[in-house]
Amino acid sequence: MTGRVVAVSNRVAIPREGQAPGGLAVGVLAALREYGGIWFGWNGSTTTGEPKDAELQQDGTITYATISLNQQEFDDYYNGFSNQSLWPLFHYMLGHLKYDRRKFQAYVRVNALFARKLLPLLQDDDVIWVHDYHLIPLAAELRRAGVTQPIGFFLHVPFPDYDVLRALPVHEYLLRSMCAYDVVGFHTLGDLSSFQQCLLRPEIGADLLPGGRISALGRRLVADVFPIGIDPAQCAELGAQHQSDRAVERLQTSLQQRSLIIGVDRLDYSKGLPERFHAYQRLLEHYPANRRNVVLLQIAPPTRSGVRTYAEIRAELEGIAGHINGRFAEVDWVPVRYLNRSYDRGMLMALYRYARVGLVTPVRDGMNLVAKEYVAAQDPEDPGMLVLSTLAGAARELREAVLVNPYDTDGVAEGIQTALEMSLDERRERHQAMLATLRQNDISRWRQRFVEALKASRDTH
Ligand code: UDP
Repeated sequence: MTGRVVAVSNRVAIPREGQAPGGLAVGVLAALREYGGIWFGWNGSTTTGEPKDAELQQDGTITYATISLNQQEFDDYYNGFSNQSLWPLFHYMLGHLKYDRRKFQAYVRVNALFARKLLPLLQDDDVIWVHDYHLIPLAAELRRAGVTQPIGFFLHVPFPDYDVLRALPVHEYLLRSMCAYDVVGFHTLGDLSSFQQCLLRPEIGADLLPGGRISALGRRLVADVFPIGIDPAQCAELGAQHQSDRAVERLQTSLQQRSLIIGVDRLDYSKGLPERFHAYQRLLEHYPANRRNVVLLQIAPPTRSGVRTYAEIRAELEGIAGHINGRFAEVDWVPVRYLNRSYDRGMLMALYRYARVGLVTPVRDGMNLVAKEYVAAQDPEDPGMLVLSTLAGAARELREAVLVNPYDTDGVAEGIQTALEMSLDERRERHQAMLATLRQNDISRWRQRFVEALKASRDTH
């Protein structure tokens, strides 16, 4: 392939500066590593004045180009409009939606700043790949500055139906901004069709053409489904390699043959953690043979500490975990181990591999990479079983998981029990089928399909 891929996302995760857990960072890094490219975005620090030009750092095949952001602008753009308006809206959680015109204006200004700082780095044969909801207006800002290279947008979160989207006062602005891209990608068919329906509304009045092409506002774009994948071989390798890490061995010793149920999620209200804890409690109530015999290990690194609802969910979960432990624990058994910290990938894969059940029950999720990683990290001879929410994008692909509705407390408890009791033959069969799906649509394919679509768009203009 000729021409560089310039990936742009809010936050750039430079590996040696510590990991930033999150599906986007994991996916973009894996996708860029293979063929190299530039990764442009925020460096994680804030200033009081006008941010300086991008600083460049080379690491292997990837050039990291990062900028800092003004503190007040960052608060309004990131904690404000991105995470108090767009995040809850796109996850269908209108109860959490807040809107403030000033914060929206900061969002537009920060996007214009990204465009200004990116501009001098661009070359004629680049393709630009913008990631996620923080940067929806970036293509329009780049076009305004005269950029003619192909620009693609991939949304890592769900895209809501029009009746949900229109709750946001500036929804029309968002739709118009998305039409400035050449390729727009989603995780699932449901997200794509919500987007298409929105564009058909009189505000935009688009025409849907064959082959996923759309004619809107005097331009042509392509909208399609590109479900993000993982590198299954790497997950399996890491899982096996780290099995004898001291921390993993200590966990094994402390469990004393009890079955481990694992959950790994950023501490976020979309992940359905209170619902999950309630379902686990129901499991102990309805299937008492599990008492003393199972342990739930919930890893939940805190994120977005600048947003109040995130502190609230943290307090709520501590309350529920404490309640379950207070009610069921015995001198030598604690039913919930709840950890508010992050782990590196090697350790996580080893923990997944050791767990009998992977519990992934978001109330809404674009994809959920943890679900895919859990499956990939299993020992094929004796695999654990995934219990997966039907409201995660991953459920469209991992059909052989035990599928549950996260709001159905009894149903999730039943699902965990089914997974715990499943015969070895059935586990193997289901695991093989899921692994085949993961191998077929892996992270390379995600990158390749998107970049090809982007390059092809150059020829059609
Ligand atoms: N992750 C990690 N360490 C942690 C927790 C999570 O490296 O302590 C990684 C996890 O392996 C996965 C990603 O962060 O690759 C989370 O992606 P997912 O799509 O599941 O959720 P998101 O955080 O993007 O909503």
